[in-house]
Amino acid sequence: MQVFKFGGASVKDAEGVKNLAKIVQGYPSTNLLIVISAMGKMTNKLEELTWAYVKGEEKAHQLFEEIKTYHFDIISTLFTDHKNPIYDDVANTFVEIEWLLEEEASDSADYLYDQIVSIGELVSTKIVAAYLNLIGCFAIWADARSYIKTDNNYRDANVIWDKTEQEIQKHLPTYLDRGIVITQGFIGGTSENFTSTLGREGSDYSAAIFCACLNAESMTIWKDVPGVLNADPKWFDETEKIPQLSYHDAIELTYYGATVIHPKTIKPIQNKGIPLYVRSFLQPEAVGTAITGVATPLPVPSFIFKVNQVLISIFPKDFSFIIEENLSHIFNILHKNKVKVNTMLNSAISFSVSVDNDEEKIKQLITDLSETFKVKYNKGLELVTIRYYNQQTIDRVIVNKDVLLEVKSRHTCQIVMKDKA
Ligand code: ASP
Ligand code: MG
Repeated sequence: MQVFKFGGASVKDAEGVKNLAKIVQGYPSTNLLIVISAMGKMTNKLEELTWAYVKGEEKAHQLFEEIKTYHFDIISTLFTDHKNPIYDDVANTFVEIEWLLEEEASDSADYLYDQIVSIGELVSTKIVAAYLNLIGCFAIWADARSYIKTDNNYRDANVIWDKTEQEIQKHLPTYLDRGIVITQGFIGGTSENFTSTLGREGSDYSAAIFCACLNAESMTIWKDVPGVLNADPKWFDETEKIPQLSYHDAIELTYYGATVIHPKTIKPIQNKGIPLYVRSFLQPEAVGTAITGVATPLPVPSFIFKVNQVLISIFPKDFSFIIEENLSHIFNILHKNKVKVNTMLNSAISFSVSVDNDEEKIKQLITDLSETFKVKYNKGLELVTIRYYNQQTIDRVIVNKDVLLEVKSRHTCQIVMKDKA
């Protein structure tokens, strides 16, 4: 069996849903599980709605109306017969949000977030499944919350693997024998049957979980790019597609911030040796990138950009050397503030880290660090990571930049820099 994953961009309008259906029709009509995200930018919008609701802002109702209208516009284009049950089905799903909005927000914000934001995936998969059935492609809608079992760490839930595997293996093979199974990415269910989510952009990870538990032959992520590129076209004019990538390089690239695949995706499929294909839903005939266990060296250097970095330099107040004890204290403070280190460098009297500038978090971090250390920081920086670098590639990215920090290992070079004044 195979697993496909379609992200929000692929189902952002009625045309997208039709295109998805056309791709799917080119494959066997059983033993295919399709994981789908919320339509277009609906997760952002549902997030906005959640925060407005939590703060008790009137805007929540307006946003809710916009979200409903967006989906019903797509539905009315796809289903000309207004008696199609999808109209009621989607309306009933939205009632969950309606009920919440009628009351004041009293539960924890993270819990409420998961109950509200997950509706995006529930609705998108209902629409796609109904459309496939309408055009004669037998599709079974499956509720991912019954299969992906998690703890109740809302907004960043951890998968409980043994339970998940058990539920998936117990029920899904029978469905897969009968038709195409459509399910949601990003969402799971707790042992008390509340909805949880796996973290933003987590649908790739969901697909990998299904793959691993079903021992799938392959997984395919359908994207709006032709495959894994050596740089994000947002930052680079000339990008190249990487035809073959090892699991190891894929993990490295996503770890350093390549957004093409969610970082948690690779491990579960690597453990089972399942190949992952990244292909374009805009050019479904083209071969994309194959990510496998074969250790093919990357044919070209890869560039990963992160903007809005803060470089924080930490000195002991008494100018003593940076010793292990200081370092362990620094990492405890970073961990407590949930700040992820993008790169770091240790010298005799200072320790420097580059981190994402999440205003609130960084303010607290600097306050905490300043209790023990002298802290200097520099905002508005860029971090570029080059995998398989050489001097030429370094020279290329530092044109018109001042370099504040450079860290090199055998295959990877990281540079923190800012525009020349
Ligand atoms: N819809 C969710 C998000 O936008 C999950 C995903 O797309 O992977 O974050
Ligand atoms: Mg999305």
